[in-house]
Amino acid sequence: MSSVIRLYLPELLSLEQTYDLSEASHHYLSNVMKLQVGDSFYGFDGQSGEYEVQIISQNKKQTQVKAIKKIKDLSLSPDVWLLFAPVKKDQTDFIIQKAVELGVRKLIPVLTRYTNTDKIRKDRFLAQSIEASEQCRRLDIPTIEEAIPLNKLLSQWDKSRRLYYMDESRQGLPVKEAFAKAPAPIAILVGPEGGFSEEELSKLRHLEFSTGVTLGPRILRAETAVAAALSCWQALSGDWVNYREQG
Ligand code: SAH
Repeated sequence: MSSVIRLYLPELLSLEQTYDLSEASHHYLSNVMKLQVGDSFYGFDGQSGEYEVQIISQNKKQTQVKAIKKIKDLSLSPDVWLLFAPVKKDQTDFIIQKAVELGVRKLIPVLTRYTNTDKIRKDRFLAQSIEASEQCRRLDIPTIEEAIPLNKLLSQWDKSRRLYYMDESRQGLPVKEAFAKAPAPIAILVGPEGGFSEEELSKLRHLEFSTGVTLGPRILRAETAVAAALSCWQALSGDWVNYREQG
């Protein structure tokens, strides 16, 4: 079996059933990776787990596959959401990719006072999150929400999910303290390149469900702040805490 090939197959997989691959997956396996009938690879459906999947027929236009062995049951990433203000294209790509690798369950683009709004492409975000999930061996694909103004999101917030906002004015709690006992469900909010406005910060400070967090003495770029905040949370209260590979 090719150990490097791992594909998201969104149809619910079950053993011994045959599936026609999408055009993109067909192209990738047959033309790029040159797999042939009888070859197998890893497939996951985001709903039931991961399988060894075998090619059972192939022609120029189509590849048919069958899941022949279940390898892992589904396990979900922790219930942490990332609320991020989209920044420039490459940096936003970085944010999506790192957030997926760092195990967020949901990504919500938020529109803040200083967010540049013309760069929001949900289809692109989704394609990137699938690619990153395939690569990092997640078994679930994060949900990507439509972009929403920050104020609107806050006004409909479910208070059982604590919101940790990364406060560049350094008035928040040190990250170790903030995340020491911060069990999921939680959300992490990072501002745009221009930072949060004074009004936004003052609103965030006065919500009963929010905590401001400081990520040290230096001002980080938004994409660095995302990676730093998620890494700290995973290490202190997420699924890195006691993780050891089984068996
Ligand atoms: N232009 C702003 C910085 C924005 S940095 C300024 O010069 O002040 C982008 C986002 O990253 C911020 O909104 C914040 O959410 C986060 N961030 C950056 N550095 C941070 C730090 N030291 N502590 C907490 N959050 C930080």
